[in-house]
Amino acid sequence: MERELRLEADFAAELEGLYAPWQAAPIPNPQLCLLNEGLAIELGLPLAPLRTEAAALLSGQRPIPGSRPLAQAYAGHQFGVFNPQLGDGRALLLGEWRDPQGRLWDLHLKGSGRTPFSRGGDGKAALGPMLREYVLGEAMHALGIPSTRALAVLRTGEAVQRERPLPGAILARVAASHLRVGTFQYVAIREDEALLRRLCDYAIARHYPELQAEAGGTRYLAFLTAVMERQARLIAQWMGVGFIHGVMNTDNMSIAGETIDYGPCAFLDAYDPATVFSSIDQNGRYAYGEQPRIGQWNLVRLAECLVPLVDADVDHAIAQLTDVLQRFPARYQQAWREIFAAKLGILAVRETDDALLEDFLQLLADEHQDFTLAFRSLAADLQAMPVAERQRLGIPASPASWQPWRERWLQRLGTDRPQSAIGAAMDRVNPIYIPRNHQVEIALAAASEADDWRPLHKLLEVLANPYSARPEYLPYSEPMPGGFGPYRTFCGT
Ligand code: AMP
Ligand code: MG
Repeated sequence: MERELRLEADFAAELEGLYAPWQAAPIPNPQLCLLNEGLAIELGLPLAPLRTEAAALLSGQRPIPGSRPLAQAYAGHQFGVFNPQLGDGRALLLGEWRDPQGRLWDLHLKGSGRTPFSRGGDGKAALGPMLREYVLGEAMHALGIPSTRALAVLRTGEAVQRERPLPGAILARVAASHLRVGTFQYVAIREDEALLRRLCDYAIARHYPELQAEAGGTRYLAFLTAVMERQARLIAQWMGVGFIHGVMNTDNMSIAGETIDYGPCAFLDAYDPATVFSSIDQNGRYAYGEQPRIGQWNLVRLAECLVPLVDADVDHAIAQLTDVLQRFPARYQQAWREIFAAKLGILAVRETDDALLEDFLQLLADEHQDFTLAFRSLAADLQAMPVAERQRLGIPASPASWQPWRERWLQRLGTDRPQSAIGAAMDRVNPIYIPRNHQVEIALAAASEADDWRPLHKLLEVLANPYSARPEYLPYSEPMPGGFGPYRTFCGT
């Protein structure tokens, strides 16, 4: 028996003062473009009403039972500059869905019209960027990286004015929650300690319930530690697939540890830690190689908010919070090491392996090698893959210049395991298919400009299985052709 589509209003009930009750703007002609039935099934959402009424329900035009739509308030550091009031300027939280395991999931709309937090913006979203968020979120999920996910994309039937008029759209997305570092900053700057405690206890109950047993300041120190752990792991995972978030502002860092807010993000092709795709990131603040440092910077901003909860003695509170924060580099490095060791087939990794891992990346940087395919090339070598097979799959031969490094690596791998087994294990953690920037652009342009949805469906199919190589997916493993670059991404506003 399918359950009824009914939402809870948990955030609305628990965190008054952190939102404005609000409704979606009326739109002329909502039309469903994409419905993520796989996600709906995973969450136990009833398919029948989504199939027939998604356009009205997921555009906020028809109320979902139990829903109390609201725009969330938050602050944030944008490119290092603090803004005390950002908030959902074009988004709404419809409410939370409780899945069959009892977990709550935010059901959230983006592009649903102006709100009290819109500032100068129109509250709208264009179809291309919303499809981009759908594709990239699904890709991240299939790669095994925590992410918010799109449930649906719909057209609104009206045009939104950007550099030129574009088809308007709404994205309905699901997240563990939309609590951000910026949510804490919003409360901290207003010096409302009661609300701060309520927010923090809410975040703990929802995302770190094991910490509820801790009393007093210890609980909030443990909270910072737990958020830090998840961020260290998340950012190390991004690094492992060459993902560049592009706008790691504190309002885009999730307390639950999910990848959130797919704006100008993109994946590395040629390996270079200084890579930036975003047109607005002129100083490279959010470059690939800067992400761990920025992650820590954002966590310092979260720690600053927690001072009054940790200890009445401010100096003492700061000392304890600093203690936690100082563990970030080692924690991140450990996560990074585990991920990159697995990418190179190394078991029981040790700190002394770092040089071997880093030297391989240096080789890729020096030679402008494709980050994704480099690891598949090494694995194909171990499996003695015939040339014809490599060509059918799009896996290049590894260059002779890698030979000195390769000898060190083979030495480290040892002889206990057959090389073919090591290669197969590497293939299970090194994607062959990532959302290649040119493929994403081709699919989005076909859908949003020519109403041809085949390339997008094909791309979603390929990205759903990023680790298993298939000859029929050959074009999707190939790097961006020379004529395409330099690639630039834009904030989806
Ligand atoms: P983002 O960089 O997408 O995370 O957005 C940063 C802030 O700008 C958030 O407060 C958004 O709600 C707001 N914003 C972005 N685009 C628009 C828009 N078209 N209309 C109103 N607010 C927007
Ligand atoms: Mg944002």
